[in-house]
Amino acid sequence: MELNLSNIPDQTAEENQKHVKVLVLGSGPAGLSAALYAARADLEPVVLTGMELGGQVSLTFAVDNYPGFPEGISGAELVERFQKQAERFGAKIEFDSATQVDLAKRPFKVQTYASTYLADTLIIASGATARHLDIPGEKELTGRGVSYCATCDAYFFKEKNVIVVGGGDSALEESLFLARFVKSVTIIHRRDEFRAGAILQNAIKENQKIKLILNTVLTEITGNEAVSGVRMKNVVTGEESQLPVDGVFVFVGHTPNTQLFDGQLEMESGGYLVTDRLMRTSVPGVFAAGEAADPHYRQVITSAGMGAAAALRANHFLENATREEKEEVIYA
Ligand code: NAP
Repeated sequence: MELNLSNIPDQTAEENQKHVKVLVLGSGPAGLSAALYAARADLEPVVLTGMELGGQVSLTFAVDNYPGFPEGISGAELVERFQKQAERFGAKIEFDSATQVDLAKRPFKVQTYASTYLADTLIIASGATARHLDIPGEKELTGRGVSYCATCDAYFFKEKNVIVVGGGDSALEESLFLARFVKSVTIIHRRDEFRAGAILQNAIKENQKIKLILNTVLTEITGNEAVSGVRMKNVVTGEESQLPVDGVFVFVGHTPNTQLFDGQLEMESGGYLVTDRLMRTSVPGVFAAGEAADPHYRQVITSAGMGAAAALRANHFLENATREEKEEVIYA
């Protein structure tokens, strides 16, 4: 039987292209705040959620440093509130991801899994993804004891022994969360000083379930069907050792999700998008906010602020497009 392709809609055909004033890529705090501000300016923004509605914070157990919530709030609830507020003013949330972008001329062409968008302005809020250790056993045992999300997986390690790799805020915060469920948490960090803030450092010292192994890196994660242990190396003495464990939680930083813009937008080392103080990228009409453009702060509040600023600027651009395009981009 011959397949009749004529019934399948051609996404790239002109009649199937959706023209929008503001297209927001990403639905974390930056993307949803941009959507809220763009919606309140009557720009009818469309948000492409990306793979994870709410981005990284949606997987965070407790957010204690977002103002307005003195008792703290779960990441998932905070994101839900952001979404509802943006939708209340007319933002449209699409469960879809950009697969290709063409920023050579306006309107910008953005191909997604389901559609093709023509966008007068683009706000990139595509966030960042957890970095991997790239050691033997890590990939093979991901989902079988290797995890990058304590909020998602802690439940599966009740009364088990786990290790956490990393020395930043994420590693220590997630260790505290894991300690509520597991028998023991051993934090393995490559230096003898933590990058994490003092409050978290004090909290882990006081927690009886948390132990530390410093100046040490993992060299292999072992196990057949599931994680059974790790091999480690002390970076000062060179001594190698093994530790039997049931789970390995990796929190060694993030990589910005900006590969889609390679060669089209200016980036700094590590792939972060370069913006000026007005959230403008190197292409007029394309703005960036949140972790895709922020190697420094990476907080919910700073990302939300950047998103709001990007939307205000997108509005300004749409009102003054010709003049803006002639303006020189002043990098901060
Ligand atoms: P981060 O601050 O970049 O810390 C990454 C940690 O992983 C560092 O301790 C680093 O060691 C270690 N590391 C990196 N590559 C490694 C490797 N290949 N092997 C072993 N260790 C490795 O990342 P983060 O903890 O995810 O935090 C990201 C940002 O989010 C930060 O700005 C942080 O303040 C923020 N954040 C804030 C909160 C909060 O305020 N409650 C919570 C979570 C995150 P070195 O120290 O030796 O470089």
